[in-house]
Amino acid sequence: MLSVRGLGVRYGRSVSALEGVDLEVATDSVVAVLGGNGAGKSTLLRAVSGTLGLHGGAITSGEIRFRDERIDRLDPAVVVRRGVVAVPEGRQVFARMTVEENLRAGGLGARSAADRTAARARVSELFPVLAERSGQRAGLLSGGEQQMLAIGRALMSGPSLLLLDEPSLGLAPQMIGRIARIVTEIHSQGTAVVLVEQNATMALQVADHAAVLEVGRIALAGPAEELAASNDVQRLYLGGHAESDEQAAAEVAQARSHRSARRLARWAG
Ligand code: ATP
Repeated sequence: MLSVRGLGVRYGRSVSALEGVDLEVATDSVVAVLGGNGAGKSTLLRAVSGTLGLHGGAITSGEIRFRDERIDRLDPAVVVRRGVVAVPEGRQVFARMTVEENLRAGGLGARSAADRTAARARVSELFPVLAERSGQRAGLLSGGEQQMLAIGRALMSGPSLLLLDEPSLGLAPQMIGRIARIVTEIHSQGTAVVLVEQNATMALQVADHAAVLEVGRIALAGPAEELAASNDVQRLYLGGHAESDEQAAAEVAQARSHRSARRLARWAG
């Protein structure tokens, strides 16, 4: 679905943020991109969503293809219409607008009124709390609720690929578990996800595949289970998230068992 080949990115003349980065995302998969501060994770998402120019960055080499077509020279709004939508770091909601208005704004990227209605139903099912708070100003929601609204707004345009930049950042363990479950649920509904995270344990529980960025280059990549077992990943990125990891593991296991039950019911019925 998404293919990034030999990607190089610079900010201005002096900062080289990515070099020779390859990343493949298959339809119906969750791919985690891990790495420490400044490794280039957000830069990679900006390159894919076409928003690098807004941050003073530019692609210097390589190419990005989505469903076999080049998207690396497209306007961000065109990338959204192709089906690639990003949720940037930092829970960026329109604080003065209501929850409802935020979701409506997200729906402007939908391909038709019918798609918008279907997306709205999906968002209400995934995030009942947003339906309860629809008239409330987004700036008054809790951090976790704002993250849900940011994801819900992105889903309103009906993406086939969702790019999430550190959705767990600054959230309490229980909320991180809920976000993990929601990502699993979104994936099970047929949307592929690229999940950028510093919380490697949570990300590796949710993802099928993962890549580790180190100073702008891919240092490791492979199936999430293999990376979780790798000594390097354990030493560098795992540990220190124990409570949130347990929550995330429990929520993901629950979402997966619901998914299996639904598949069985479909198969039987
Ligand atoms: P974090 O987890 O801290 O958000 P990250 O892995 O997402 O880090 P990036 O934000 O992509 O890393 O940054 C990669 C490199 O590019 C860093 O050296 C950073 O200082 C630099 N950089 C990022 N944004 C800009 C910008 N707008 N202008 C100049 N340099 C930037």
